[in-house]
Amino acid sequence: MLVVQKYGGTSVGDLERIRNVARRIAKYRDEGHDVVVVVSAMAGETDRLLQLAHELVEEPSPRELDMLVATGEQVSSSLLAMALNAMGYPAKALLAFQIPIKTDELFGKARIRDIATERMREELKKGHVLIIAGFQGITENGDITTLGRGGSDTTAVAIAAALGADVCEIFTDVDGVYTADPRIVPKARKIAKISYDEMLELASMGAKVLEIRSVEFAKIYKVPVHVRSSFSDEPGTMVVEEDESMEKVLVSGVTYNRNEARISLYGVPDKPGVAAKIFGPIADAGIVVDMIIQTGRPDGRADMTFTVPKTDYKNTLRLVEKLSSEIGIEKIEGAEDIAKVSIVGAGMRAHPGVAAKMFNVLANHGINIHMISTSEIKISCVIDEKYTELAVRALHEAFGLDREPEQEG
Ligand code: ADP
Ligand code: ASP
Ligand code: MG
Repeated sequence: MLVVQKYGGTSVGDLERIRNVARRIAKYRDEGHDVVVVVSAMAGETDRLLQLAHELVEEPSPRELDMLVATGEQVSSSLLAMALNAMGYPAKALLAFQIPIKTDELFGKARIRDIATERMREELKKGHVLIIAGFQGITENGDITTLGRGGSDTTAVAIAAALGADVCEIFTDVDGVYTADPRIVPKARKIAKISYDEMLELASMGAKVLEIRSVEFAKIYKVPVHVRSSFSDEPGTMVVEEDESMEKVLVSGVTYNRNEARISLYGVPDKPGVAAKIFGPIADAGIVVDMIIQTGRPDGRADMTFTVPKTDYKNTLRLVEKLSSEIGIEKIEGAEDIAKVSIVGAGMRAHPGVAAKMFNVLANHGINIHMISTSEIKISCVIDEKYTELAVRALHEAFGLDREPEQEG
């Protein structure tokens, strides 16, 4: 079997844990499997590097920032390879440029374009365990990029897809995907099996246990993903194609996301082309706008509110301020202390009652809803950040997620 494994930051957080991971990999080798490992930086390292840069200058250049933060994974991958070698298991650490893992030029949130497999196959044939630095890539010009926070998951699934691995195991500090973040909801339950689509919604809505692009890759290339703990042998959560039994669950999870900020534009001229003028430059800057609400006003103007990642907040404000006089926006205002709480479930397709119930639960807890968005299988509400935990727990309980799954109909 060819197994791709990914170990997150906590799993390689110190030398003892690195040894623990090495022992785990050794067991797979003893069973005769080929193993390709992707590692994150040691816990806290990426944050530490980012903070260093931001202490030095207010807005570090994205290219240099990627040069800096990519080093975290170089450290952990080489240490893990050393540990394995010392145990008598030949291993080799590889950085993105050595494979290469080619990406586009969007520093800080680059997308993987191509992964060459020749070098990896060669090394595997020699009997090496490959330890690949996650999170990083290389552009056509040879510049180092990173894939965005949590991006090692994406490296792992993309490599599993490229190599046609039998499974991609994501080893982390929880033993699977839960009905809500177990750190916030102690009563959350582990989900044994979840569809790519539901996992995609959970991930996009904030369940950071899997990075969203990793789920996109898994879905497109049908990579079976197994999310499990690096501290136990318990089976975790299988992320696979949807089947009959999954359809019946009304709500499968509650998520929250505190990483977005809100921007409101008041008194925007209400005529064709204005939205395009506003959102064109934002898209060109590689900024992903999430929710958008536009409300018409009696005076022929409109108010517009939208959300962007917090990391893009200042940049987006600057962009709209630049457009302000050209377009004629009366007032621009924004807030960073918001959170988005969502409920996700394949069974809520065509179930209007679910939304009403969600609004009721929030209302009963005195939580005001600022924005709402829905898709076939999720409903999200933007609320004040300070109510995040209260909202998540209340929704988890109201939809019966601490008990057996609710059935449709
Ligand atoms: P790693 O460093 O291994 O990539 P992450 O911190 O990125 O780990 O992801 C694991 C964390 O995701 C858990 O510690 C947990 O707090 C959080 N999490 C959020 N939502 C969920 C969920 N629905 N199920 C499991 N974990 C979740
Ligand atoms: N080290 C990177 C981060 O902290 C990537 C990852 O851990 O997946 O975001
Ligand atoms: Mg992660």
